[in-house]
Amino acid sequence: MNKKLNMVALAGLVLLAGCSGGSGDDKTAPNEVNLYTARHYDSDKALYERFTEQTGIKINRIEGKADELIARMKSEGANSPADVFITADAGALWRGEQAGLLQPIESETIKARIPENLREPKGNWFGFTRRARIVAYDPAKVKPEEVDDYAKLAEPRFKGKICVRSSDSIYNLSLVGALIEEWGKEKADAWVKGIVANMARPPEGGDRDQIRAVAAGVCEVAITNSYYYLRMASGEDAADKAMTDRLKLAFPSLGGKGAHVNISGGGVAKHAPHRENAIKLLEFFASADSQAHISANNSEFPASKDVPVVAPVDAYVDFKANPMNVAAFAARQPEAQSMMSAAGWR
Ligand code: FE
Repeated sequence: MNKKLNMVALAGLVLLAGCSGGSGDDKTAPNEVNLYTARHYDSDKALYERFTEQTGIKINRIEGKADELIARMKSEGANSPADVFITADAGALWRGEQAGLLQPIESETIKARIPENLREPKGNWFGFTRRARIVAYDPAKVKPEEVDDYAKLAEPRFKGKICVRSSDSIYNLSLVGALIEEWGKEKADAWVKGIVANMARPPEGGDRDQIRAVAAGVCEVAITNSYYYLRMASGEDAADKAMTDRLKLAFPSLGGKGAHVNISGGGVAKHAPHRENAIKLLEFFASADSQAHISANNSEFPASKDVPVVAPVDAYVDFKANPMNVAAFAARQPEAQSMMSAAGWR
């Protein structure tokens, strides 16, 4: 019954959109896949074209912020045409899963390509590229051994010296979630309070703004996702490039096991009308070629170790990565949120 409704709704949608692209008899439009994506890089378009060339499956793309796409899928309910949901950050994928919008899949290809800790254990979602949440620092003021562990960032040494964005950033929620998972609530809570005490200014702007604030002398250390620094270092903007030439990137360790790692990833939508195509698209994203493409264009690290990378990512790709499962810290998000709010991390 539901399935039938889906097909009718989808056929209607396709007709309305005027993009059936094939025979009018083809009510289920089997050679399509509907991608709901929070990634909106121009460079991704080349990737989608390659998928269509390889498989003959056309990608219909709906773009939006992760929370907007989640709200949209919720309101569409069982009639949602969404096949695949793609976004940055395990925390956002977890939100989609919690809202009942994803379904587990079994794919030997994905299992073979993607390390276990980057996959949600039941198969609801997985990452195809990695980003570390780490620090950029001014080496004229800070020694590398002062930023080699997340715990040190909350010490009095850095009073008034830390720049970091607000607590509604999912990147920060995921980081604090990882600290809770590794250390337990008490130590994580003390860390959050220590960071609030060490802030050079109330949180403002994005990660790049924190890096620029270090360069401007507002603070000594910025908490940032690795790709923001690496994109600045790749030289699109001369002033940003000059900053990263002077500042350094450090990969603090969590529990002695390496830096906190997050992902860009995706999963199959709960009511996917083109489930097989959805799995094919996700397998395509997991391929070495796709990982290399995304890494090269957004300076993320591939999920798989065997994927070649280009400068400036190549200089950092062998960093020590904490092997914590992405679902473990993602699920700590509500605890992280209330801990940060209570500490006054605005
Ligand atoms: Fe980002």
